[in-house]
Amino acid sequence: MAWIAVLLCLCCLSGCEAQPERYAASYWDSFDTLIEIIGYEKSQDAFDSSMQRAHALLLRLHAVFDRYNAHPGVAGVYALNHAGGQPVQVEPELLKLLSEWRALNDSGGQAAPVNPALGTVIDIWKEYREQNAAVPDMDILQAANLHTSQAAIQIDMEMGTVQLMDAQMQLDLGAMAKGYAVEQLAQLLDDIMPAYLINAGGNVRAGKPPQDGRAHWTVALTDPAQPTDHLMRLGIEDLSVVTSGGYQRYYELNGVRYHHIIDPSTLMPGDRYLQTTVIMKDSGTADYLSTALFLLSYEEGLALAQSLGADAVWVMPDGTIQMTSGAQALVIDGAK
Ligand code: AMP
Ligand code: MG
Repeated sequence: MAWIAVLLCLCCLSGCEAQPERYAASYWDSFDTLIEIIGYEKSQDAFDSSMQRAHALLLRLHAVFDRYNAHPGVAGVYALNHAGGQPVQVEPELLKLLSEWRALNDSGGQAAPVNPALGTVIDIWKEYREQNAAVPDMDILQAANLHTSQAAIQIDMEMGTVQLMDAQMQLDLGAMAKGYAVEQLAQLLDDIMPAYLINAGGNVRAGKPPQDGRAHWTVALTDPAQPTDHLMRLGIEDLSVVTSGGYQRYYELNGVRYHHIIDPSTLMPGDRYLQTTVIMKDSGTADYLSTALFLLSYEEGLALAQSLGADAVWVMPDGTIQMTSGAQALVIDGAK
């Protein structure tokens, strides 16, 4: 009897609550990549119900930002690209992303190499990459480049409309949309499951630390020279780590690699770095910046990152590493 009383009493003191445990989920059906979410919850049921909301949000944002498939009833990128130059009352998430993108490009001064209107040029490279047989002729790229002027994207925030003044223009939001979606997801998880790690193919966002006594989440940067290895590991909480690299999507001809991040000044894949990584809280801005840094000179990129409060890591063509002091402070091991 006394036994039971003591047990009951211990239960009262501790509240008899289950301790949070680690759960994981993964999805293949949005943003053309594997999206993994790890989180700490009190039960599988609690985790599953958080994931139901997380997954619904991912599917919604995928439908808004996907340019390759029609999504009936969704006024997203596909609808806008097929509107024949007419104004479209777009989904609020698209309006917001385009206006944030524009503000980021304006803040960068003259050098704004990340252009949401580069779709026609990106399409040529995608077609040649899939055929894996040749490098596109410059006159084909230049003809496509006649339809990439950012000034032709008319955004009316009050009316909620976007108009592509050039009917042949194709928006491609691939440089920022995944990070933007991950940030929306992070903001949802902050409310319902604050200790989490999201990994969306090179785009990581951490919330509060894991609830197992560790002080932070550990994330590895891929070694661009040997993508099955890691370059260094960082310890993070409440931060995004977003990487752009020429090893992520490419084809090779005669020993030359042609990858998916296109320098608008040459219309060729950027060749300044093997990899760039941005570390800051907002995952959308980090995604924009990782692509921008990949295309900018080190000095321009450093100035842009600093102006936006971001830390960064650059891997040069010879494999040497440059990083800001804030990035260095997060390194656990591995930085050469
Ligand atoms: P990320 O992996 O975030 O660096 O983004 C690369 C993706 O952004 C590519 O797959 C293209 O869809 C798109 N992209 C490539 N080059 C550019 C560019 N100069 N400006 C805007 N988007 C680009
Ligand atoms: Mg990016």
